Amino acid sequence: MYRLLLLGVVVFSCLFAENRYSMVEIYVHEGNAEKIADLSFSMECTAHQHSRNGDILRLPLTANEMKRLQQSGVSYKVIIDDLSSFYAKRSQEDLEEARNELRDSGTEMKLGSMGGYFTVEEVIENLDYLSEKYGKKDLITIKKSIGKTANGRDIYMVKISDNASQDEQKTEAQVMYTAAHHACEPAGLMTVFYFMYYILENYETDKRVRNILDNRELFFIPLVNPDGYAYNQETNPNGGGLWRKNRNKTGVDPNRNYGPMKYWNFKNKGSSDDPEDSTYRGTQPFSEKETQAIRNFVATKNIRLNLNYHAFGNVVYYPWAHKDVIASPHCLPLVERMTRFNDYSYGSSDKMIYPIRGDADDWFLEEQNILSLTPEVGSWWDGFWPSPKRIFKMAKENVDANLVTAEYVDELDK
Ligand SMILES: [Zn+2]
Repeated sequence: MYRLLLLGVVVFSCLFAENRYSMVEIYVHEGNAEKIADLSFSMECTAHQHSRNGDILRLPLTANEMKRLQQSGVSYKVIIDDLSSFYAKRSQEDLEEARNELRDSGTEMKLGSMGGYFTVEEVIENLDYLSEKYGKKDLITIKKSIGKTANGRDIYMVKISDNASQDEQKTEAQVMYTAAHHACEPAGLMTVFYFMYYILENYETDKRVRNILDNRELFFIPLVNPDGYAYNQETNPNGGGLWRKNRNKTGVDPNRNYGPMKYWNFKNKGSSDDPEDSTYRGTQPFSEKETQAIRNFVATKNIRLNLNYHAFGNVVYYPWAHKDVIASPHCLPLVERMTRFNDYSYGSSDKMIYPIRGDADDWFLEEQNILSLTPEVGSWWDGFWPSPKRIFKMAKENVDANLVTAEYVDELDK
């Protein structure tokens, strides 16, 4: 009996340790940069602050990752010990004030019930609500599943455009917006939803919005990784869940699972071949249902520009992700316009932090000739579950960036 009890305690504490995350601060300088890169932590959805003598990285780590960091000899400081509890507590404290602030916000979009963020069910309800209300004006399609996950959930897409029920790709350029490749980044999801509400609610009164919807077909996939998101909802119903990957066995990082093979397998850091790691890349490019769904959907369209929303960092990454080379002459002009109001920083992830292998943007450009960028919403203090008071502010900060992206297609053809 005692042994059984002891076993139970050990199993429980292992599970607990795996689910426990801390926010860690690392001072990066020439002497330790290589060692940190070798650890293959998930660096892109984190914050880094540049200073004259080096960079300060602030990133959430599991107990196991902290152990590896300790073993590597790199010095660090824990700035928030139990990150999930910290996020959930902050959300609960700020929720009422956030709701009050939204009374006159000019949108029908409401906060969700998971610390202010939409649950999986609320994602579906909101898609259905928009389709029902604006489908009457043929501005949005009903949601369509572009594929099923390992756990049998649908990955949904809607199109927003004038004459949405018709295929107008011969005359209207196509642009796409995705969010939540990473399950612990609901701020990206809310930012994309806010934009959907914004363009539908303002179509009739705002000339700029009208011009875009009349001349573009916009596709939205607001929740690429519903299995991982549902898992966070289950473990942390008030928000604060920090599971990042999908839920296929030990989980694969969808943003390390894109091809082509030569990038997925590129000989540098930037993804992990250890299934336990948060940047585990899978057994081969497109081994996962989520990346297969995106690939198959994109194959049926003629998309020109794409944004993959993530969190956090207040930064926009442009390709390449696997090396520090600006992949297209359009990267800088586009990103400069996108960030003119929100003042996000920008660069390739390799230049800003470390190279990334198997990321979506590289595949979009290399294999599909689609320019694809990654906005990372929020500061390190916002983190993965920003206060509900910040949800609409961050979303509004990105409305112009989203409109600019839709408009920029004209420049691609010049
Ligand atoms: Zn991310």
